[in-house]
Amino acid sequence: MLDAVVVGSGPNGLAAAIEFARRGRSVRVLEARETIGGGIRTAELTLPGFAHDVCSGCHPMGELSPFFRTLPLEAHGLRWVHPMASVAHPLDGQPAVLLRRSLTETARDLGEDGRAYERLFAPFLREPHALLADLLAPLRMPRHPIRMARFGLPGLLPAVRAFRGRFAGERARALLAGCAAHSILPLDRPLTAAVGMIFALTGHVVDWPVAAGGSRAIGDALASYLRELGGRIETGRFVHSLADIPPTRIVLFDTSPAQLAAVGEPVLPARYVRCLRRFRYGPGVFKLDWALDGPIPWRDPRCLEASTVHLGGTLDEIAAGEAAVWRGEHPERPFVLVVQQSQFDPSRAPVGRHTGYAYCHVPAGSTVDLTAVVERQMERFAPGFRDRVLARHVMRTADLQSENPNYVGGAITGGVADLRQFFARPVARLDPYSTPNPRLFICSASTPPGGGVHGMCGHFAARSALRSLERLPRNLASLR
Ligand SMILES: Cc1cc2nc3c(=O)[nH]c(=O)nc-3n(C[C@H](O)[C@H](O)[C@H](O)COP(=O)(O)OP(=O)(O)OC[C@H]3O[C@@H](n4cnc5c(N)ncnc54)[C@H](O)[C@@H]3O)c2cc1C
Repeated sequence: MLDAVVVGSGPNGLAAAIEFARRGRSVRVLEARETIGGGIRTAELTLPGFAHDVCSGCHPMGELSPFFRTLPLEAHGLRWVHPMASVAHPLDGQPAVLLRRSLTETARDLGEDGRAYERLFAPFLREPHALLADLLAPLRMPRHPIRMARFGLPGLLPAVRAFRGRFAGERARALLAGCAAHSILPLDRPLTAAVGMIFALTGHVVDWPVAAGGSRAIGDALASYLRELGGRIETGRFVHSLADIPPTRIVLFDTSPAQLAAVGEPVLPARYVRCLRRFRYGPGVFKLDWALDGPIPWRDPRCLEASTVHLGGTLDEIAAGEAAVWRGEHPERPFVLVVQQSQFDPSRAPVGRHTGYAYCHVPAGSTVDLTAVVERQMERFAPGFRDRVLARHVMRTADLQSENPNYVGGAITGGVADLRQFFARPVARLDPYSTPNPRLFICSASTPPGGGVHGMCGHFAARSALRSLERLPRNLASLR
């Protein structure tokens, strides 16, 4: 009998398996697809020689993850490639705003609001890793309560209120609204200011990197380290029911709550299963990947210095677009997130050519093809863009969900992270990774601290499962 089986090989599944293996426990990962990695896959989606990140593209949380920082991932082939700036935020009729590692340089770009911006972030940059360790964790007594309170008080506010109140000009407001829109929440909801502040803060600690060779290199490095520790990974193993799981003491699900409910139903109380089924996933995304015959022709060429470009104009425009998505509409001018990996990692495309990556938020389950809408936003800030496109690859919400069953309705971050579901995900329990069955755990992005490639959900879930393992009787019956 194994100590643990992990269902799913996303970054959280691999993180959980590593935590078990490095404590000398036997562990096996079962992955539905023929390739590992979940949200960190890379593939030739358009033309031969063009390597596109199918899901996640840019990895500040990956490089800063308190768990990943303890692993020898570089020795297992991972290399982060850094841009000169984390984010470029173009605006109509004026130069783009750039989020640079230097707080002073970023502030200088914000004109009248430079001082206020520096005042907001400077206190958090004294010991940023300690603050990030508190932020990327389940609800618990923070290790640095005063700094957390200082961060949490403005962070609890809706982004529109926090950033309109603090800044007078459009530039700082727009930069932080773009960062807050990563929450996939309407920007008038509580906590969205915290998301904006966390993303901006990471940009002052690392230049948001991409993984050399593609995001798949993160999964390959995690898998290689896991194998070195004695863990095993089996691909092509979709777990439909408990019968598909080999004899084991513990099972960790790197899956959506819906799949935990479907597979675990025979051994979980009906009330808990009902709560899992009530979990809210939120809006989906529409994604485009391009093979390009040159760099993106940004009107402000400084945009080429950033790994990520936020297209959406002012705070008001971004807030209106995100609110429309929540009303079930497709905005005319959506907030579009662009990543330009090949600008920094030449291995992604043939010499002189480039890859382009963009997505926007859409209502859950949307079937609408937004190619023209997204490309219009590109043309707005990069005139002549369409002429550079050699080939394109489109993913609607259903394509994302068939790529990975965790992306329910096309939702990419494990489920709505509003006040109710931020800490109490997937179900309100003191230990959110546990279930009423001491042998079943959930470790996916549908647990705290939520979406992103950081492995923290897997790390905390494994620690909780290891504690439970100590208390289980030695002679256990099969789970089935
Ligand atoms: C378009 C897009 C862009 C993104 N951009 C970024 C970004 O730039 N930066 C960032 O940090 N994050 C980004 N993310 C989010 C990030 O990819 C996810 O939050 C992260 O991958 C979640 O990791 P996970 O381990 O919880 O699950 P996943 O990565 O979703 O992995 C789950 C794995 O479990 C497998 N699985 C599911 N069900 C079963 C089953 N029943 N049996 C066997 N296997 C199963 C799946 O095949 C999959 O391999 C993006 C996601 C998408 C889709």
